[in-house]
Amino acid sequence: MSVTLLVADAVWSNIESTGSVTEEQLSVLHLLFGKNLEKATRIIDKRGVKKISGLPSGRSIFQVVGESQKREEYLCFPGDYCGCYSFFYDVVSRGEQQCCKHQLAARLASSLGTYSEIEVSDEHLALMLSKI
Ligand SMILES: [Zn+2]
Repeated sequence: MSVTLLVADAVWSNIESTGSVTEEQLSVLHLLFGKNLEKATRIIDKRGVKKISGLPSGRSIFQVVGESQKREEYLCFPGDYCGCYSFFYDVVSRGEQQCCKHQLAARLASSLGTYSEIEVSDEHLALMLSKI
């Protein structure tokens, strides 16, 4: 694991334990993630993060709205995956970013509890995942 991710993990768990984010924590995250953090906070301000939970399993995935005019939504696992172009291009292919803005938005919203929650059946969730 890279130093960036270790530092980020420590900050995330502090935010999770308090359920709020301080100016100091935000500036550390900004140092680590730069412009993507600004974009992520804009997405959260627009209430663009949804957590979709399957019942009865409780398995979940995030759906995060994009910033383009089309307001596309991307399915996203904060630590592992996002369906957007930037994830494949900047994160996986070129290795230039640790994660995309949607993953950051999902992680921050999840730490702060600032997401809307949608419950679906496990079958419905499985169907959504099969289209990834
Ligand atoms: Zn993304």
